[in-house]
Formats: sequence, structure tokens, C-alpha cells
Amino acid sequence: MSDCIFCKIIAGEIPSARVYEDEICVAFNDISPQAPTHLLIIPREHFDSLAKAESRHRETLGHLLLTAAAIAREKGFAEDGYRVVVNTNRDGGQTVYHLHVHLLGGRPFFFPPG
Ligand code: AMP
Ligand code: ZN
Repeated sequence: MSDCIFCKIIAGEIPSARVYEDEICVAFNDISPQAPTHLLIIPREHFDSLAKAESRHRETLGHLLLTAAAIAREKGFAEDGYRVVVNTNRDGGQTVYHLHVHLLGGRPFFFPPG
């Protein structure tokens, strides 16, 4: 996926402010934050969206959510609460087609979103 901006972030070809990384995922600050904390957690393995996930991605998908929860605890807003979002395809508002989990915290959120 040579033209994928998130693959380029993983490769270090596009700069990002990384807050966490391990063998499965990388977490970095969203360039256009919508909350005091707004991170993106992405798998090192490229797949386009949740709609393209397969059963072999089960561990990776679980790992992304557990990583979001761990970062929320570490940032200190787990108790107050936070929002985890996976925008999927056109109607879901997805703009970057490398699956990513948004972690937003530090303010209240409302539901349903727009
Ligand atoms: P989505 O609309 O769910 O596909 O979200 C894509 C997110 O990627 C948006 O919140 C963008 O602000 C964010 N984004 C796009 N380019 C970059 C970048 N180079 N570094 C960090 N975040 C980015
Ligand atoms: Zn990618």
C-alpha cells in the first residue's frame, strides 16, 4: 500500500507524534484533534477498513481496543470516560483507508454523534 499515509507514518516517511508502539500497532496524535486527547491507534498490517476485516484479524482488532483502554488509563481519563470510534467506509465518515481506532478523551461526548 505504497500510497497509504498511515503506512508511511508507520514507516517513518511521514512524521507523527507517537505516543505508543509495539509489534502489532502504533498510536500517534491526530493531526486535527477533536478533544484534549485525540489519538489514532493503527495496526502495522494494512487493511482498508473494518469492512475488510477477516477472522485472521481477530487478535489485532482486540489488541487495538485493549491498547486504547491502556492508553486511556495511562492518560488518566479512564475513570471519567472516553470515546472510541472506528469510522467505516463512506457513510461512516472514513477518510483514510487504513483501519484506525480513534481514542478521544478529556471532555464529555454525546450520543448519537452527527
Ligand atoms: P477517519 O475520518 O476516521 O478516516 O479519520 C482519519 C483521521 O486521520 C482524521 O481524524 C485526520 O485528522 C487524521 N489524519 C490525517 N492525516 C494525518 C496525519 N498525517 N497525521 C495524523 N493524523 C492524520
Ligand atoms: Zn496503510
